[in-house]
Amino acid sequence: MTRRETPTVMVGDVPVGSRWPIVVQSMTNTDTADPDATALQVASLAHAGSELVRVTVNNEGAAAAVPEMVRKVRGLGVGVPIIGDFHYNGHQLLVQYPEMARALDKYRINPGNVGAKEHHDERFSTIVRVAIDYDKPVRIGVNWGSLDQTLLTELMDANARLPEPKPARDVMIEAMVESALRSAELAEATGLAHERIILSAKVSGVPDLVEVYRRLAARCDYPLHLGLTEAGMGTKGVVASTAGLAILLAEGIGDTIRVSITPEPGADRAEEVRVAQQVLQSLGLRHFLPQVSACPGCGRTTSTFFQQLAREVQDYLAASMPVWRERYPGVEGMRVAVMGCVVNGPGESKHADIGISLPGTFEEPVAPVYVDGKLSTTLRGERLADEFKAIVESYVERRYGQREEPVAAG
Ligand code: SF4
Repeated sequence: MTRRETPTVMVGDVPVGSRWPIVVQSMTNTDTADPDATALQVASLAHAGSELVRVTVNNEGAAAAVPEMVRKVRGLGVGVPIIGDFHYNGHQLLVQYPEMARALDKYRINPGNVGAKEHHDERFSTIVRVAIDYDKPVRIGVNWGSLDQTLLTELMDANARLPEPKPARDVMIEAMVESALRSAELAEATGLAHERIILSAKVSGVPDLVEVYRRLAARCDYPLHLGLTEAGMGTKGVVASTAGLAILLAEGIGDTIRVSITPEPGADRAEEVRVAQQVLQSLGLRHFLPQVSACPGCGRTTSTFFQQLAREVQDYLAASMPVWRERYPGVEGMRVAVMGCVVNGPGESKHADIGISLPGTFEEPVAPVYVDGKLSTTLRGERLADEFKAIVESYVERRYGQREEPVAAG
């Protein structure tokens, strides 16, 4: 697929644009006024692989706490760029709290709620001027839940006057695109450089999301941040986000992504980072973690042993990655197969870098292991899982280990 061409926007030291890998971002759900809790969550999201982290700056307490929070994050050895999310009062907070404005790496402005018609442009421009003063990029983030009502009314009225008015959905989508583009125009007219602007226009329905971003992509060259807003919980949130993002990414649209899933109570916030990474990896756009192909199992296997082995291998790979990533460059592209029987097992195993095909019901109780497409050994017995992991470990060392350069004599 060909990526839509966009200029590079630097967010802190992270480049966003078509010349760079698609960036994974996430957002905290702690109270930003609590610098300890927020710093820990920012660090945890960054450790999970989030390359940009957004925090809400919704009131004076949050604005006052941002500089300390950022210092704490840096004190934890985490350099991830931190973005401030502003609604309603961003024009006041960014002016009244200059340390906060300086400490953040990007500002997100929602043009739908910077103020009513008579205040809108002045407040929007105030935020943009702060961004110019502190040399920060902005994301103009339109959201259909807070769409600029003045603009929507204007487009609805114009539509009503047409001989054949378009459906309301069509006008709403156009209003989102127009809101983003007109705001970007105003930002540039205020003095913000073209390559300091990222756009987004999030909706909560997949067909609408695809339509909005296709139109936006066709009408500007700003980098686009993709995400399905209010994606929801559990399987629904993951599948809906994936469906929307995958269509657009496959068309070359999108420079940064976020998966806005609602975490289960008490669940790890970083799950949204792992889902975003998996979306990019499944599309072959980036590699974060060795992939395990496992068959779904069927009546040919009466035991759940191969499911357990698939889980064990997957967990082992994930747990090994923090060390492997440093020591074995390229290991994140490795493919491992764990298969349930001889029907597809040997074939799938041969296509992976390392694969194991477990015995199905009535098959001989041996598990052939394939390395680089060739039968390497056959495992059997209770220690099979450990032995397979040891084979994976030595393969990783052999294939991805950096060769020591011989020391020159003299
Ligand atoms: S590989 Fe074997 S066990 Fe797995 S789904 Fe196919 S036939 Fe069933």
